[in-house]
Amino acid sequence: MNIRNLIKRIRSSLHLQKELPTEAVLGFLRILEGVREEEISCSEIYARLDEYVEREVSKKDAAQLMPLIREHLDICPECCEEYEALLNVLNENAKS
Ligand SMILES: [Zn+2]
Repeated sequence: MNIRNLIKRIRSSLHLQKELPTEAVLGFLRILEGVREEEISCSEIYARLDEYVEREVSKKDAAQLMPLIREHLDICPECCEEYEALLNVLNENAKS
């Protein structure tokens, strides 16, 4: 996303004569992003990933129990990578 263009668009759509302080625009953008953003941050996912993967390996329905984590894993490649690595480790352990 091109922030400069977006700021220009916001300015013109609001018919502002004066410069809109960049801080105000950035604050506005942060609010917009916050609406779309997932409810759990990556660090929270990391903290709960062990539990999630353990549930998944033990055939409990992890995605049902912790849907926010499943949702985050679907949209966040970094956490998904971590999740798959953890899953591999636990599966290996389960075999031996
Ligand atoms: Zn993440």
